[in-house]
Formats: sequence, structure tokens, C-alpha cells
Amino acid sequence: MQDATKHYINGQWVASIDGREMAVEDPSTEEKIATITLGGDADADAAVNAAKAAFPGWAETKPDARIAALERLMDIYKERAGEMAQAISTEMGAPIALAQTAQVGAGAGHLKHTIRTAKGFAFERPLGDHAPGDMILYEPVGVCALITPWNWPMNQVMLKVAPALAAGCTMVLKPAEQAPLSAMLLAEMIDAAGFPPGVFNLVNGDGAGVGAHLTSHGQVDMVSFTGSTRAGVAISKSAADTVKRVSLELGGKGANIIFADADEKSVTRGVRHCFNNTGQSCNAPTRMLVERSIYEQAVETARTVAENTEVGPADVEGRQIGPVVSEVQFNRIQYYIKQGIDERARLVAGGMGKPDGLSIGYFVRPTVFADVTPDMTIWREEVFGPVLTLTPFDTEEEAIALANDTPYGLTNYVQTADKARAQRVARQLRSGMVEMNGKFGGAGTPFGGMKQSGTGREGGVWGLEEFLEVKAVSDWG
Ligand code: ADP
Repeated sequence: MQDATKHYINGQWVASIDGREMAVEDPSTEEKIATITLGGDADADAAVNAAKAAFPGWAETKPDARIAALERLMDIYKERAGEMAQAISTEMGAPIALAQTAQVGAGAGHLKHTIRTAKGFAFERPLGDHAPGDMILYEPVGVCALITPWNWPMNQVMLKVAPALAAGCTMVLKPAEQAPLSAMLLAEMIDAAGFPPGVFNLVNGDGAGVGAHLTSHGQVDMVSFTGSTRAGVAISKSAADTVKRVSLELGGKGANIIFADADEKSVTRGVRHCFNNTGQSCNAPTRMLVERSIYEQAVETARTVAENTEVGPADVEGRQIGPVVSEVQFNRIQYYIKQGIDERARLVAGGMGKPDGLSIGYFVRPTVFADVTPDMTIWREEVFGPVLTLTPFDTEEEAIALANDTPYGLTNYVQTADKARAQRVARQLRSGMVEMNGKFGGAGTPFGGMKQSGTGREGGVWGLEEFLEVKAVSDWG
């Protein structure tokens, strides 16, 4: 690993001009594992200038040349997958097995499918037979600011960097300050893959500093952001004065509707899914809605699964859940658990404080609340921790109304053996994604939300088009 205090600008690791140092912590041990620099305006400006200067040359390259560079990156990413898993596991606390599989694998998958999408994409295409001579050109948007969170670091970084590179954009990546090491490792890989200097730049920093500077910057054409709805709102406002294209992948409060005819594993699967990555996923199924005839049984199953969920340090091999990323997150989750208790939800498992024997590290007790109603804080707000709520329903209409009773609209889940009902419900759910009966979307499926879960879609052809402008030209030939 490079000296972590440096930024990667114009093909070089460079010292910060106006930054200040910050310690990166291992959330399992609370120990410092690296020192980075939170950049200042001058660092961000240097990166934007490099991206701006590199843009005309990179935009002009043939898609084949960009795809070849991405294929070199793919080879390097695979070779260094072990290092990547280690970086993710220590910086944000994902258990090593989860880091090696889902965390690193998500990055590899998005890179692979971006390459496949770009190979099949017609960057120039006629308007249609009715308009001979009219040509539609898909051109890169320009200089992009890519701002990412810490919970699935390579997933989110690769969903932006790979299509931006494939489109012919140049970019400044600002990874989350809590989990910057995986992104810095990716910068080393991009460097080794031989992309021209200035095409990809990385500046570390926080939201108020580098983040805000990039999103209001006159030379930045687009902001692609993943993170909290709070930050998404601030970014939209900041980007408005210069009319940037803004793509936002924000929070969620997914409902998991379980009908009485659902397969017998659906409750267990739903609880585990909610707790996966220690509940730190925007698409987590955090509100379990259960048909009344099987409700109490579901509450008991959820209790058992929660009580049997092992919690432990990230470096231990196993299927435990790790700590949450930071003390700030730990305290936020404690606040929500307290709200649940104070607002009289039925505490079924877990609760406040740390699990027995884990006094060091940001470990949270896997927590289940039953009888949660839409007026409660834990129904309305995203907790981002291993906290599940259960609520009974009587009819299909009520289940749909409950699922949609949230400002968010990212992913909802439906469990039923009745296909016609499943499709009826899926059509009425106000969310960008609906996952049914435990089946994930395939490679290249569009990821993104409705309502306050964001704008735009990542992944597949939709994710590539986010980074492309559409130009219409008449009398082409
Ligand atoms: P979380 O609350 O999950 O940490 P945030 O939404 O605060 O998520 O942060 C996600 C990313 O957005 C991080 O890289 C963070 O530095 C950045 N960020 C936070 N606030 C802003 C902002 N106002 N402008 C630009 N970037 C921001």
C-alpha cells in the first residue's frame, strides 16, 4: 500500500496541498490502522484540473480501447483480490469471509458486466428508418465527481468508476473517509492497468470539505453519489447552481411482505438478510410484514435467528456478523433501539449495549422488535444496523399500503407461492426493485430507487447511460 496520506492525481501519488490528517480505525479493535489526509479545496481543484485536461483525449478514444483497459484492470483486480478483501475487512469491519466473497465479488461482478455491456452498446446509432440521415451519438458527460460510502466500498466504487471509464468520462473519486483504503488499492490497480494520467483521480476528504467542493465545482459536469438521503439533499442543492447531472443512490427502508403461503424458510432468510453486513445495506429488508395467521410464529422464528446470530471480530473466519463501522454509527443505532423501547414496540431479541464479551469494538446486539407501527421512529427512519421490525397485516391491500408507507422506495421483498399475487403486489410497490421469494436480480440488473431513495440507476446498460450524453445530429451521411 502507498503512503496513505497521499492523493492520486494525474497519474501520481502526491502530497496534500492543504489537507489535514485523519486516523482510519479498525472497528473490530478500535485501533488505528492508517493515517489519511482529508484534502482541502486546493487538493480537489488539482484533481479536477487533471480530469479536465485528460477529458478530450480520453473522450476521443474508441470504445474498444477503453474496454481493453478495463479488461487489464479486471485481471489485476482478480490477482489482488486477497489484498482487497483484507483492506475492506479491516477498514469497515466486514467479516473476512464476507469481504472475500460478497464485498470483493460485487466489485468484480460490476467490472465484468460493465465490460460486457460496453461491448454490446451502440455508441452511435441511427434514429430510425423514418428519419434517414439522423444519427444519435452517445458521448461521455465529462468530468465526474464520484462520492461513495463505506458500507459496500468496492460495490459502490465499481458501480461508478467502471461505467464512467467505459463511457469515456474522466473522474475524481472521493471515497468515504471511514473506509478509504480499498479505494486507494483500486487506484493502484488503475495505475497499473495503464489508464492515461488524469483519467482517474482520487482525493480523500470528508463531506463538508472535498465532498462539498466537488459538488459545487464549476468544472465538474456530473456528480454520482451513494450515501444517506441527508447528504443527497445537500449535494443536489450544491450541484444546482451549475446545473450538473446528479445521480443519487440513497437510503432505504425495505419491506419484506411474507404471506402465509410463503416457503417455510422465508422468515429465517429475511432475518439473516436484514442482519447481513451487520445491517449496513441500503437495500436491507428491515420491515418484515407478516400475514396475521403466521405472525406469532414468525416473531418466534425471528427471535431464535437473532439469538443464534454470532457477533464477532472481522478477522475471525466464520459466518458471524462484524462490528458496525464506527462509534458514530454505534451511537446512532443505540439511539434507534432506545426509541423503539420508549415508543413501546415489543422488544423480542437484543436491545441496547454490546453483546456479552465484546466490550472493545463497535459491536451491536442483533435486535428484533415486534408490533411496530408506522408512527414509530424505527418504522420511518433508516437504522443502518442489525435491527429488524415486525408488523402483522390482514389483507394484500393492507400489506401493500404498509410497504409503501415510507419516504423511501429502494427495494421491497415479497414471499408467496401464489405467482399471480406476487406479480400484482410487485406492480403496486413504489420501489426501484422488488425481489421475490429470495431470488436476487441477475447481473446487470438496474439498481436504484424511487421517492427519497434517489434518482437514476446503476448497473448494466442503465448504469452506463448515466455517464453518457445523448447528441442528435441531422444529415449525418
Ligand atoms: P453515512 O451517513 O452513511 O456516513 P454519508 O451520506 O454521510 O453517509 O456519506 C457518504 C459519502 O458522502 C461519504 O463519502 C461522505 O464523505 C460524503 N458526504 C457526506 N456529506 C456530504 C456533502 N454534504 N457533500 C458531499 N459529500 C458528502
